[in-house]
Amino acid sequence: MNIIVCIKQVPNTTDVRIDPVTNTLIRDGVESVINPFDAYAIEEAVRIKERCGGKVTAITMGPPQAENALKEAIGLGCDEGVLVSDRKFAGSDTWATSYTLACAIEKLETYDVILTGKQASDGDTAQVGPGISTHLDIPQVTYVKKIVEINDKAAKVERMTEEGYDVVETPLPCLFTVVKEINTPRMPSLKGMMRAKSAKITKWTAADLDADPAALGLDGSPTRVVKIFTPEARKGGEMISGSAGEVSKELAELLKGEVV
Ligand SMILES: Cc1cc2nc3c(=O)[nH]c(=O)nc-3n(C[C@H](O)[C@H](O)[C@H](O)COP(=O)(O)OP(=O)(O)OC[C@H]3O[C@@H](n4cnc5c(N)ncnc54)[C@H](O)[C@@H]3O)c2cc1C
Repeated sequence: MNIIVCIKQVPNTTDVRIDPVTNTLIRDGVESVINPFDAYAIEEAVRIKERCGGKVTAITMGPPQAENALKEAIGLGCDEGVLVSDRKFAGSDTWATSYTLACAIEKLETYDVILTGKQASDGDTAQVGPGISTHLDIPQVTYVKKIVEINDKAAKVERMTEEGYDVVETPLPCLFTVVKEINTPRMPSLKGMMRAKSAKITKWTAADLDADPAALGLDGSPTRVVKIFTPEARKGGEMISGSAGEVSKELAELLKGEVV
């Protein structure tokens, strides 16, 4: 089985800062790590390989230093890493990002399962996984919390919902976005770390992909970030105390004042 796991390198902080001029993330001086949700996607990809055989290819679109994330993924059990990197991809929104990743995935021989994290901790949109499956025209199941059954033709999974979970059966190839309830990621093994050190990462630029140049990067992005700002902290609320009758009367007076 050919399993692909998409991983993103993100700043190792929850204090994401935005450049007020370019409206993009400030990455300088911030340590980068594999997006926390992607660690669960990597673990699940390796578990599927252990169950069904085959190989796991980790793929990332990012700057040259994202190669480190791919090596880390190999240390965790992935077999190969593909870095998709080019200045032409700069400024991609989620649509252009998922298009670029889909083109890279199509360049790989075949694929049965594609795994992504539920969302990235910096961009936070949860759009890239569904975007990839849309571009590839394959089914997707989001918020997967358990892969119940899987073979090279089909899978039965549980997807988390607010009330509980759905059981979904799907033919393969299919894309799954995973939640952290799906597994407990393993630590890298010594053997894995040694393999990661010497692993050769495949590097593709825009010229290597069968992609429409007009659909890449900032120019290929249908959305524009016009302004990013931190909303002002809301003032503390006003507490009204008394009996139910007194409270409702005072509340009604206050609301009348707001309406006028
Ligand atoms: C309107 C808009 C405009 C933007 N403009 C810019 C811009 O001008 N410049 C800029 O630098 N950024 C920009 N971004 C951010 C950029 O689009 C996102 O960083 C990127 O598309 C990933 O989206 P996300 O972080 O929300 O990932 P999510 O959709 O939350 O990620 C879900 C999963 O998809 C996979 N994934 C996501 N990104 C990658 C990746 N790069 N490689 C491999 N797998 C991945 C991971 O498995 C991840 O867990 C913009 C975003 C938006 C919404």
